[in-house]
Amino acid sequence: MADCVFCKLVAKQIPASIVYEDEATLAFMDLGQVNPGHVLVACKAHAANVYALEDTQAAAVFRTAARVARAVRDAFDPPGLSIYQANGAPAGQTVFHFHLHVLPRHDGDGMQLVWPVKNPPRERLEEYAGRIRARL
Ligand SMILES: [Zn+2]
Repeated sequence: MADCVFCKLVAKQIPASIVYEDEATLAFMDLGQVNPGHVLVACKAHAANVYALEDTQAAAVFRTAARVARAVRDAFDPPGLSIYQANGAPAGQTVFHFHLHVLPRHDGDGMQLVWPVKNPPRERLEEYAGRIRARL
């Protein structure tokens, strides 16, 4: 897509600090660096979000993410590491080209994820599971 910043990164039209590249994926340093070693892994072909990914793209992106995570662990030795991925503005997506964050984590690093559990009854869980199973 002509106006997509990640497509421009993939096309090398704008600079990036690239850490890994293969036929389907590109991994590069996040400009914001929430913590040192914060890498983004994107599919090369434009896909706005997880719903638009081909299965082969999804597999390639996570293969790259796992490889990058091991390299980040070895390079920065963080006590934790999060893999974060958002779809749609309410989820926090700001660049609408599929990517995930490989984010080294430290105690007190300021990164927050509120996890407001609802603990529904088992019957509700079965209802939810059935709705999803019917669409797989
Ligand atoms: Zn794009």
